[in-house]
Amino acid sequence: MPALYELTIAEARALLDRGEITSVELTQALLDRIVAVDNQVRAFLAIDDESAIEQARLADARPRRGEATSPLRGIPLAIKDVISTEGLTTTCGSLMLENYTPPYDATVVTRLKGAGAVLLGKTNCDEFAMGSSTERSAYFPTRNPWDLERVPGGSSGGSAAAVAAGEALGAFGTDTGGSIRQPASLCGVTGLKPTYGRVSRYGLVAFASSLDQIGPFARTARDCAILLDAIAGADPRDSTAAPQPVPDYTAALNGDLRGLRVGVPREYFVDGMQPGVEAAVRASLDVLRDAGAEIVDVSLPHTKYALPVYYIIAPAEASANLARYDGVRYGLRVPDQTYWDELEKTRGAGFGPEVRRRIMLGTYALSAGYYDAYYKRAQQVRTLIRRDFLQAFEQVDVLAAPTAPTVAFRIGEKTDDPLAMYLEDVCTLPGSLAGVPGLVVPCGFSGAGTEAAPLLPVGLQLIGRPFDEATLLRAGDAYQRVTDWHTRRPTLTPEEDIGA
Ligand code: GLN
Repeated sequence: MPALYELTIAEARALLDRGEITSVELTQALLDRIVAVDNQVRAFLAIDDESAIEQARLADARPRRGEATSPLRGIPLAIKDVISTEGLTTTCGSLMLENYTPPYDATVVTRLKGAGAVLLGKTNCDEFAMGSSTERSAYFPTRNPWDLERVPGGSSGGSAAAVAAGEALGAFGTDTGGSIRQPASLCGVTGLKPTYGRVSRYGLVAFASSLDQIGPFARTARDCAILLDAIAGADPRDSTAAPQPVPDYTAALNGDLRGLRVGVPREYFVDGMQPGVEAAVRASLDVLRDAGAEIVDVSLPHTKYALPVYYIIAPAEASANLARYDGVRYGLRVPDQTYWDELEKTRGAGFGPEVRRRIMLGTYALSAGYYDAYYKRAQQVRTLIRRDFLQAFEQVDVLAAPTAPTVAFRIGEKTDDPLAMYLEDVCTLPGSLAGVPGLVVPCGFSGAGTEAAPLLPVGLQLIGRPFDEATLLRAGDAYQRVTDWHTRRPTLTPEEDIGA
């Protein structure tokens, strides 16, 4: 049997249900793994070990007490630190919220607790989820478990790295422009950005409200289905959480790809894409074809506008959402003579450079005289981008594309060049603007396997119709039944074994 921390959620479920392991043993195995490797990976901002063991004990007791059980009962998970957790710090990777402990749980957390899941702790991220590398955390960068000198992607890099390193069986992140999909690709794990509105945002600290979605990371598409089953659906506390019925995502996994029409958008194979990334993605299309899918070329002509449109809309919404950090209502306060002085000092001290850049961009784009030229126009082009998708989905069931143009890059490589960092998201931004779901599955490795060019994971992005996560998960699961990329693990040597 593999080590307990290497299990998938589905495998752990079977062992728990057969009484071969307890949740306390499983949770302890994950906590031990965190102790062994997290000083290298640094995926976590906070670990709640006592509470985790207590939750595991309660989860183990549920059947004995005749309480309802569920597929997540006793399963240890991690949560990105932009999602509110009652009694546990929620910093958003920012000094602004360094000492902030929410008085309530996000709806997603309430649902996970209701299902008996065990919450291990909070994962690192770029400040307020703005970034593509997790280097913009105010605390420390998280490292890619496949190569500790490289980034795990971002902004949900802590959650992706935690799953890749065996520090959690599953984790939640958020995706505004790619922050679940890109780190899933760079860390070699499976990640799902649901349709905008599929999952409640109540208790998610807002970055760009018309784009933000919470979604799962896990080792397999099946595990992502289990995690989505637990969190999806309408919420009286969030009017943007859609009333559409929630199908049984796990039941949709029939392993069948025959007749599935897969569109390959030609605009996604952008200039500057690393050849190894393109090769791995193209090879995965052959696998889908061999399994019975029909591969067709499609065009999404407005793709090239996604990046400029996103970098108007997301900063505009961010500038409005972040106005609440005024030194009075939440978190940090730098005292001064007047309210305005205090506001200025607090925001100057609490926000890092990328957050300040976004607030300035957004405030400018929304200002009188520029609103129509920038924000309104960006919203109009956003509609054209969405129409591209809806038209493509008249011909095909899913789209298959690269997730990011590169594999994991070196820490520090892009921090001085915001535009190079923004380009990491060219393949994920269009789907975010359109509000459609995207699933990333590991599809190979790129690199020479040398020290200078190590083998690093590549992820295939499957994009689906609005509210059709079931088809994405079915395709991802079917792909994983005939490939083994998702079973590969990075080698991490616990520090006591290196003698450090
Ligand atoms: N990297 C993109 C940004 O910096 C997307 C971030 C996200 O999805 N949260 O805005």
